Amino acid sequence: SGALDVERIREDFPILQRRVGDDVQVVYLDNAATTQTPEQVIDVFGDYYRGYNANVHRGIHHLSQEASIAYEEAHDRMAEFIGASGGREEMVFTKNTTESINLVAYAWGLNELGSGDRVVLTEMEHHASLVTWQQIAKRTGADVEYIRVDDDGRLDMDHAAELIDEDTEMVSAVHVSNTLGTVNPVADLAELAHDAGAYIFVDGAQAVPTRPVDVEAIDADFYAFSGHKMAGPTGIGGLYGKKEILEDMEPFLYGGDMITKVTYEDATWNELPWKYEAGTPLIAEGIAMAEAADYLDELGMDNIRTHEEQLAEYAYDRLSEFDDIEIYGPEPGPDRGGLVSFNLDSVHAHDLASIMNDSAVAIRAGDHCTQPLHDKLGVAASARASFYVYNTREEIDVLVDAIDDARELFS
Ligand code: PMP
Repeated sequence: SGALDVERIREDFPILQRRVGDDVQVVYLDNAATTQTPEQVIDVFGDYYRGYNANVHRGIHHLSQEASIAYEEAHDRMAEFIGASGGREEMVFTKNTTESINLVAYAWGLNELGSGDRVVLTEMEHHASLVTWQQIAKRTGADVEYIRVDDDGRLDMDHAAELIDEDTEMVSAVHVSNTLGTVNPVADLAELAHDAGAYIFVDGAQAVPTRPVDVEAIDADFYAFSGHKMAGPTGIGGLYGKKEILEDMEPFLYGGDMITKVTYEDATWNELPWKYEAGTPLIAEGIAMAEAADYLDELGMDNIRTHEEQLAEYAYDRLSEFDDIEIYGPEPGPDRGGLVSFNLDSVHAHDLASIMNDSAVAIRAGDHCTQPLHDKLGVAASARASFYVYNTREEIDVLVDAIDDARELFS
């Protein structure tokens, strides 16, 4: 595909040269789980620990000041990256998307939800959102309802309009499904939520890495993402929240750094976003995530989206050649992201992934943390190939050849 100079990009990712098994170069198609890391991001760790490692916010000394400035500016950078004009005050660093959802579920949900209130999810939620809201609902007496996914793998928006009623307090929806690849109309869901007086939380774990995201155009109240899925490190993610909501909400974790004044009786909370970042944060990781944002912006988020769409279409078309392959999710187009989940009639997804591994092709097999959706699809598991900036059509050809091998082995 022509949107990106893939050959040049591949030089930034040393791991793509890894040879595994019988000395075969790895074909990495598990990017929806975790993306690989370019030298530019890896270098942040060496620079940080060699040059300015220190605790943040509390130091008078040079190193602490340098670390603090870099860490704080990383918040501004991530806010800008997803279209939040409020800068650091609207950008909390967390461990990952899961923690971002739990933060809001605990800090807002436990305090605000009660019996008779409704939380609306989609049938394609990742467990990170589904299990979290389910448990918070159980503890508060709220109900959970699920917007139906139709046979094409898209949300039934009429059903959404029915479900999101005046009892609804929270709508939580995945932006890009990590199983179906569907790009959901989250701005439309936000409008439905706001018309009903509810908040909308968008799980952007698969969206932020792969397309331009503008939280203000969506009018999201909360928006979550993970560094490790966007060419950044593990251990770090983000939670965007509208400033006025974050100001009103209770803290999630208590401790150092998140306070201004403490007595033996009580405490007051620090300014945003530090109110939500108790204890020593992931400093190098935060700075490295901002470097990943720079790296992706350099490639161009529009180009990345085009590349993803083109690879998804190519994979979809190649897999569609076979009668014994079922592909899940919408047909290629602007509302399908760069991943393809499928099943081969005669071979269990786990066996398929294992045979792929013999050819050094890394794909995912399992329920992709969407068990109820797999139940609905009538399967226990699926195989998933997911693409990123360094993947090529040739790698998809290797995938299809490996599927041929699996078919022969099991026939
Ligand atoms: N939501 C979606 C849509 C995801 O794809 C994932 C990762 N598979 C998550 C949430 C959870 O992300 P993390 O494990 O980084 O918290």
